[in-house]
Amino acid sequence: MAVFNKIAVIGAGTMGAQIAAHCANAGAEVLLLDIVPQGAGNRNALAEGALAKLRKTEPAAFMSDEAVRRVSVGNIEDDLWKLAESDWIVEAIIERLDLKQALYAKIDGVMKDGAVVSSNTSTIPLSALTHGLSERFRRGFCITHFFNPPRYMRLLELVTAPETDAARADDLARFIDVRLGKSVVRAKDSPGFIANRLGVYWLQGAVVEAVKAGLDVEVADALIGRPFGIPKTGVFGLVDLVGLDLMPHINASLAATLPEGDAFHALNVKLPVIETMIAEGYTGRKGKGGFYRRGPNKAREAIDLVSGAYRAVRKPNVAEAKARDLKSIFDGTTPEARYAATVMGRTLAYAASLIPSAAERITDIDEAMKLGYNWALGPFELIDKLGAGWFADWLTREGLAVPPVLDAARGKRFYEVKDGRLFALQDGTLTPVTRPEGVLLLADIKRATRPILKNPSAALWDIGDGVECFEFTSKSNSLDLAIMELLGQAIARKPRGLVIHNEGRNFSVGANLGLAILAANVAAWSEIEKLIKTGQETYKALKYAPFPVVAAPSGMALGGGCEILLHSDAIQAHAELYAGLVEAGVGLIPGWGGCKEMLARYLASPRLPKGPMPAPVKVFEMISTAYVSKSAAQAQKALILRDGDEVTMNRDRLLHDAKQKALKLAEHYTPPAPPIFRLPGDAGATAFEMAVRDFHAKGMATDYDVVVAGELGGILSGGTADPTGEVDEDFVLGLERAAFMRLVKREGTLARIEHMLTTGKPLRN
Ligand code: NAD
Repeated sequence: MAVFNKIAVIGAGTMGAQIAAHCANAGAEVLLLDIVPQGAGNRNALAEGALAKLRKTEPAAFMSDEAVRRVSVGNIEDDLWKLAESDWIVEAIIERLDLKQALYAKIDGVMKDGAVVSSNTSTIPLSALTHGLSERFRRGFCITHFFNPPRYMRLLELVTAPETDAARADDLARFIDVRLGKSVVRAKDSPGFIANRLGVYWLQGAVVEAVKAGLDVEVADALIGRPFGIPKTGVFGLVDLVGLDLMPHINASLAATLPEGDAFHALNVKLPVIETMIAEGYTGRKGKGGFYRRGPNKAREAIDLVSGAYRAVRKPNVAEAKARDLKSIFDGTTPEARYAATVMGRTLAYAASLIPSAAERITDIDEAMKLGYNWALGPFELIDKLGAGWFADWLTREGLAVPPVLDAARGKRFYEVKDGRLFALQDGTLTPVTRPEGVLLLADIKRATRPILKNPSAALWDIGDGVECFEFTSKSNSLDLAIMELLGQAIARKPRGLVIHNEGRNFSVGANLGLAILAANVAAWSEIEKLIKTGQETYKALKYAPFPVVAAPSGMALGGGCEILLHSDAIQAHAELYAGLVEAGVGLIPGWGGCKEMLARYLASPRLPKGPMPAPVKVFEMISTAYVSKSAAQAQKALILRDGDEVTMNRDRLLHDAKQKALKLAEHYTPPAPPIFRLPGDAGATAFEMAVRDFHAKGMATDYDVVVAGELGGILSGGTADPTGEVDEDFVLGLERAAFMRLVKREGTLARIEHMLTTGKPLRN
């Protein structure tokens, strides 16, 4: 793969600074430049200030401190010459054609042959950007349109011109995919590209129609949300997030560049209620509030689109918002159904009209909306739910034009599965949907095969070459006895390698607390003890299985979800891994071997001084504070990941990488040797108790924290272990089990669990 090890980002504003951070996350050396501020003593003040601010942004732009150190700053006057070393130069300055062009002329004077220059522009066509520039420059130029925030938004639109050096653009696309972890969607050089063009049309249409119908914003959001698989932030919640004040600018810019006759122009109308909101500073979350706000007493309020006054948020109690069949909404006659059908019907038709002017393929449009706006289904997938012909007839009945792509699809589907393979309609023909090399999706495997094993909470899949994939399928991938049972069966099959992976938003939120509280409420202690014991035994069996086990988590891996990682031979982690043992938050301690495995990791770490106390202290800090990593890089620091564990930047590549790792380990596999623990015993437990009392006295630990930390300290110091002797892992597991059972019977723990289940937040009792 071509290397882009040296990257320069010019423009250290909202986007440039974060793009620089993310390139550093990927391991590149990054130079971040901005202009020299007028009259400033420090000529690098802008880029320096941006970097300082970036270190504090939430959610974090950097994945690690090492990444921070890979960014150096400068200014475009003194440091221009340094661009000669850059493999890729990203321009992210303000959205002005004259300024961008003047900058390109300067870059052209210094850049090396073969380098790539790209713009992050949201609206300016590529042909305008490069107009008048040298052929050499134009060959190396493209648009790389990141979404905000660049670390977390997976979409990147890549726009090239016929004169762009195709091989160089392909190299860059691959780098952005593999190293930056983005899904690259190829967009045509047309106004707003794909996601903004369609997204703005959708948002503007939804706002205009809601104002026209005088709907409650909650009702509008509910109607657009669940039935269409759109996040419950809906439309108004999303505009609050983006900023109301930005909407008129984006609208104006699109209106100025879109061809006459484009359907957007009809929606681009002034809305007095929104103009007043912007003028008074109600610009959304960054302002005094938006369509929603926290009113006096922190109560949630929403704006009344008719009167412009805030009122308490109302629960949107509309039947249409619960509709499962989209056709019933499109056929509906209530104002609510008419609203949802008008907004979404027009949006789907607009999406179809963008082929081929904005995108070559329907999959590009679907990808863009799924990744750019978190839609569960893309527009063409939604049309398939209605049927292309049915939807075309609906448009005709509404007096709306039927786009040619839709007309041609009558009687067909945009997507079809044949012999387990996914096909998409392309130029009238069903064409196989192919994945880039190194991308393996469980979704594709699930379409093509049947599970080897399955129960209501988990499934086991054949992912080829003798490797099997264990998938959690329970709600939020929470862990229960059914999972343990199926995992036991999966282990008994002795595959060549086992990968533990799923494509849920989170790998696992941990044990199913709802079940625990049910059992606790009827004092079914033996049931709970069984769950703990079975979990310990299953995880141990996983660890010592005669084949390699690779966990491939993405998102949250909490509590028991983290413990399964700790019992795997290796972890192939997605860069966005939020892992931790969070049991203390619900008044418990890790009871499925989490304390034991973290102790073993720290005891074996050359980073710590020798002796029985340093390892328990580290693990105590981690578990008592319910530490959760904010990236895989941080999980590595916390020893959740060990040497040899690896990180995959692109989620879509995670399963492939994990499978390769399992195959590699399978070549000469022997199960790990059981750890031996030398622990401090009673003296250690006393030291932990004293420390916790001190925290309590200073107000840093609550009454119940003291109880939980006391139990934790007892386990980590080895209970009555002889400080001069050794204990094995079953001994530590026994301590975990006993402490867990004592805690789960206490009022304080039950109160914490119930609070977590009802509010999603920890109780500080
Ligand atoms: P911004 O206003 O936050 O930052 C622009 C930065 O560029 C400022 O720090 C400014 O000092 C600097 N700058 C201006 N002229 C310069 C020059 N000649 N040389 C070097 N630096 C210069 O803007 P932003 O929101 O980060 O947007 C940057 C680009 O990214 C724009 O093209 C915008 O359309 C695009 N974009 C923005 C978003 C977003 O959500 N903000 C999303 C996608 C794309």
